[in-house]
Order: sequence, then C-alpha cells, then structure tokens
Amino acid sequence: MENNSIERCILCNVETQYRVSDHIDYRTGYIEGVGQLCLHCYNNNPDGKKIVVKVSEKTILDTPNDASLGGVVRNEYYKLKGL
Ligand SMILES: [Zn+2]
Repeated sequence: MENNSIERCILCNVETQYRVSDHIDYRTGYIEGVGQLCLHCYNNNPDGKKIVVKVSEKTILDTPNDASLGGVVRNEYYKLKGL
C-alpha cells in the first residue's frame, strides 16, 4: 500500500522510522516543504536542520546557463528563508 510505505531520508536515502501516513506533527526531522530526514542527518547539522533547496528538472532545463541557474537557486533559498 503506497500510503503506508516507509519514508526515506531526503539526503541519504536510508529508511526512516516513519511511514508516509504518519502525521508530521509527531515526527522528528521533518522539514516542511522539504521532507523527512533520518535522525543521523538531522542531528549532524550544527543548527539541527540542513537547508535543502529543491530545484525542479524543468527549471534546470529551462535555464539557459549556469550563472542564471545560480541566481534561480539563490532566489529559491531566499524564498525558503523568508527573505
Ligand atoms: Zn539521512
């Protein structure tokens, strides 16, 4: 059953102790808009969570060069940080 599958860490891809159906309020290591981290990845960041910026494949393909893509990624980071 898809909805009951085990969540994998978005950074290292190991299985976490959570299932997709587990409510995020009762999880440790879940970052809204990003996903579930395993406890190892969650705990091995100085501020307790690593900022992960997702860039869609479409954005990469639609952005003409690396300099522009850098700007797009930076804007996504600022958005994530609420800046
Ligand atoms: Zn991990």
